[in-house]
Amino acid sequence: MGETKLKIAVCPGSFDPVTNGHVDIFERASKMFDLLIVTVFHNPNKTPLFDMQERVEMLKMTTNHIDNIRVDCCSGLLSDYVLKQRANIIIRGLRALVDFEYEFQRALLIRKVEPTIETLFIMTSNEYSFVSSSGIKEVAKFGGSIRGLVPESIENIIKERLNADKNTFKRRICLPVATAL
Ligand code: ADP
Repeated sequence: MGETKLKIAVCPGSFDPVTNGHVDIFERASKMFDLLIVTVFHNPNKTPLFDMQERVEMLKMTTNHIDNIRVDCCSGLLSDYVLKQRANIIIRGLRALVDFEYEFQRALLIRKVEPTIETLFIMTSNEYSFVSSSGIKEVAKFGGSIRGLVPESIENIIKERLNADKNTFKRRICLPVATAL
């Protein structure tokens, strides 16, 4: 008898930070595969709030209730990474029509580069259709509540990071004045 082939999928993203919308996708995708590899993917077009290792740690904290998930990070060509993991499926979430065009082009490009890899889209759940990492950072930055939008275990980490950034900014603009006095 031949070796049984595991069904492995990769779910790449910035996850800066991970939201309940992401976790919902992980929970649903993990039921379809033997192993789901959630990968913090370096996107050179984005300036992240959290570095890659921090994002990996937050993902680990918020997915430890899912048995068949592995958290990882990568940079470079996504298709190379996927093949190295012995996977042939990429999972992406879809929220609204605005996501579609970007995701559609991206999926076609990946298929052109590596025809053996398919991209599978999972539609958001109603309650998370408006949730995005950037929206959460914006709300939290101005002191709004992000309860229920991100996993509870990372709520304070996000608030603290945004406040630290604010304090650094304040120090940067206030220090010269303070020194002059
Ligand atoms: P990227 O920079 O690769 O778009 P993101 O972390 O923003 O990374 O998103 C990763 C994936 O999760 C994308 O496929 C995105 O469409 C999907 N996603 C983000 N938020 C949600 C949500 N609320 N519901 C469903 N999918 C989502």
